Amino acid sequence: MNVLVLGAGQLARMMSLAGAPLNITISAYDVNTDDIIHPLTQQKLGAGLAKALADVDVVTAEFEHIPLAVLEQCQQSGKFYPGSAAILAGADRRQEKALLERCSVASARYSVINNHDDFNDAVNQLGLPLVFKSALAGYDGKGQWRLKDQADCTGVWQQMADFLATDSKQAIVAEQFIRFNRELSLVGVRAGSGEVRVYPLTENHHVNGVLSVSLARPLPRQLQQRAEQMFAAIASSLDYVGVLAIEFFEVEGELLVNEIAPRVHNSGHWTQQGADVCQFENHLRAVTGLPLGSTELLRPSLMVNILGEDSTPPAILGMPGLHLHWYGKSKRPGRKMGHINLSASSLAELKARFAKLIDLLPAAAFPELEKMLSKLTD
Ligand code: AMP
Repeated sequence: MNVLVLGAGQLARMMSLAGAPLNITISAYDVNTDDIIHPLTQQKLGAGLAKALADVDVVTAEFEHIPLAVLEQCQQSGKFYPGSAAILAGADRRQEKALLERCSVASARYSVINNHDDFNDAVNQLGLPLVFKSALAGYDGKGQWRLKDQADCTGVWQQMADFLATDSKQAIVAEQFIRFNRELSLVGVRAGSGEVRVYPLTENHHVNGVLSVSLARPLPRQLQQRAEQMFAAIASSLDYVGVLAIEFFEVEGELLVNEIAPRVHNSGHWTQQGADVCQFENHLRAVTGLPLGSTELLRPSLMVNILGEDSTPPAILGMPGLHLHWYGKSKRPGRKMGHINLSASSLAELKARFAKLIDLLPAAAFPELEKMLSKLTD
């Protein structure tokens, strides 16, 4: 089987690594250059989307910010999973919010802002504090503004007006600021037959809007079931095929959806070592029509993102239960360069191993890891 992935980053790379044992060969399409790339070596294999689409059995995506013309061309091939409607629901926060409303899935109250009147209505109707997010091209907390005080309205609106003036397709989604207890995500997979399998809920800790640590361990059954219901409602409404991730805010035991990602997700990287079949393999199984694999949690696990660093202390590789995954990228401040997966046979053992890992890692490059360590005693 040959699968073309839209996007040539680390997610295509990890799909390639997971697909090889199943004889699934991945090529990656760089939407910026129109080149077909080998996802591991980054070597150019060819050029042009039309030929690549003709050559492969299936096309899928590793990110959602894809030009409309590319999405349409892929959709017309009849080989595109999860398909352009699902990708657009993840790419445009207006469509995402409308989808959640259609599915009766709870999320923060919101309104759409196109002009100053809309901005004033949002402030009056939703109240402060507010989070404003660009409707398009927003990820990892980019394209966001916060408003806490009425006195800052003029300044914040000015920044947003300047932003809106740069692109007529843009809008801003205003959302109530949620005082959440924690952030969770659910990664799951849906087959063409409608069968759904989900991994356990993952607890996520972000630093400056970027994921830092994900922790997978059994959580209360009721919470998991609630998340699974929301997942099933959203995935079936999109007639989704592949891996889908849903990010939640947990507020006093209730779940609100923050956003959806129509693809394999950073908060599911722990599945490479902590689950029976990892998210990358399950995505490929779903889009190529193979039976889905077990999503069972084999052992408590966590993942630490490596941001802006191209080396880690060699001693960490001597630790039991630790696996290092580099993405082969050149170093840039804040860039996702790789991740560390850490697993253990019990929560107590995971805690001890994580404490050792934190000792070995340079604190400046890996801030706030203790926040997740403290949760391991909860
Ligand atoms: P996003 O790009 O929407 O995932 O936002 C990045 C991060 O900003 C989230 O992981 C949250 O930590 C925070 N955030 C986003 N939306 C809200 C909200 N409505 N209330 C409080 N915090 C938020």
